[in-house]
Amino acid sequence: MHELGVVFYIIDAVTETAEANGVGHVDRVSLEVGEATGIVPDLFQEAWRWAADRTDLLRGAALSSVSVPAMNRCRACGLEYPAFPAGPTCPSCGSGDTVLAAGDDVTIVSIEVT
Ligand SMILES: [Zn+2]
Repeated sequence: MHELGVVFYIIDAVTETAEANGVGHVDRVSLEVGEATGIVPDLFQEAWRWAADRTDLLRGAALSSVSVPAMNRCRACGLEYPAFPAGPTCPSCGSGDTVLAAGDDVTIVSIEVT
């Protein structure tokens, strides 16, 4: 399950930050989730609840996430455009030489503590 792997990654990162700052309990973790990560929000929340409640640090902590649009960049003309629904063909010059430039990762934006 993809979502659970990401949740464990977030919990590790938050735990590391909390320990470094002497924080005993976290109330809320806010994320930016790229559209191209394939993360399903409902499954993500479910996985978070399951895993977070098994730690002292994150028991009961909320997870907020905002979606970041996936962007492609054309290597032929330099245009950046929304990856969905345009796909891999550049809408400006028609080149297929495009790469995913944003929206393929999960970023921790903030951690709220008591
Ligand atoms: Zn182009």
